[in-house]
Amino acid sequence: MQLKNNYWKFAFYRTVKQQTKCVGLINNKECPNNKIKMNRIANEFNHLNRKQKSYNISYMVSSKKFSIPELVEEMLKCNILCPAHHMIDNHTENDSRKNRQELTVHRMVEELELNNISSSLNDSLTFKLHSENLNVIKKLKEEYLSKPLPEKITKVGESNGVKITPKMYTQWVSLWTRNGGQLSTYQIANMYAVQRNTVYRYLTIGYPKETTRKFVFSIKRK
Ligand SMILES: [Zn+2]
Repeated sequence: MQLKNNYWKFAFYRTVKQQTKCVGLINNKECPNNKIKMNRIANEFNHLNRKQKSYNISYMVSSKKFSIPELVEEMLKCNILCPAHHMIDNHTENDSRKNRQELTVHRMVEELELNNISSSLNDSLTFKLHSENLNVIKKLKEEYLSKPLPEKITKVGESNGVKITPKMYTQWVSLWTRNGGQLSTYQIANMYAVQRNTVYRYLTIGYPKETTRKFVFSIKRK
């Protein structure tokens, strides 16, 4: 099983939400929700073409199965809308009898229009905001993919960047003094350029079975 570096995925997603804007317009001007940073928490990814949709963005964020590049690939199929614009965009007159909420949204949109408040998504300003959002997402993707893991976090199955293979583990077992070998855990650690903690953990617990944990918190000792 290949380990995916998902450590930064949540932080990446939060930053994308903070730095992108609703592309919906009100009376041909930028959505006023964009002025209030707190509102961006509630912004939603709206697939532009339903047929191209593979997964919900929020599912991809919470599931361990997906990496940042896979998440980004899906994000690029979407535009970003505040909840109100999302509701307005998703309501269709034909479906309005199907459910109460859509009927309500439809009525409210009509009332707003009577008061000369109109929502739109088809202006060059929408296009401009959308392409700015896409650039933000692409830029943050590069930034977060090149972020190193924090000092005290190491990947499961690695130590000091060295991948611990089953073969390596078998060698450790036979080298260890407690098994009749010649070396202490410190000496084994030095020989393989890994943490002594790691060697000790492997030798006392055994080679780990496949795990859903991708990262482990460990205190590095010199
Ligand atoms: Zn909006």
